[in-house]
Amino acid sequence: MVNALPCIVCGREIENLNGPGTDLPKDGVEFVSTGNYGSTVFDPGNGDRLKIVIHDTCLVKAAELRRVFFQGFGDIDSAQLKPWDPDQ
Ligand SMILES: [Zn+2]
Repeated sequence: MVNALPCIVCGREIENLNGPGTDLPKDGVEFVSTGNYGSTVFDPGNGDRLKIVIHDTCLVKAAELRRVFFQGFGDIDSAQLKPWDPDQ
């Protein structure tokens, strides 16, 4: 069991919101991927997942560098990828 996950950007551990043994990052966001066709390192095709966590502050800094993209859920217009603006 992992008690605290490191931020993939800065490497500092992110505290768990609900204490040790849980995996809900406090002041951070988790990203989960089942991989994808086209990857040469992770495409298990069986539901296995990778998880990455990022501090909120590190995510905002990455957004300011236009390295984070937003995709809405709903109609086709909102599903278009666009740079994420944390202030909107
Ligand atoms: Zn960080």
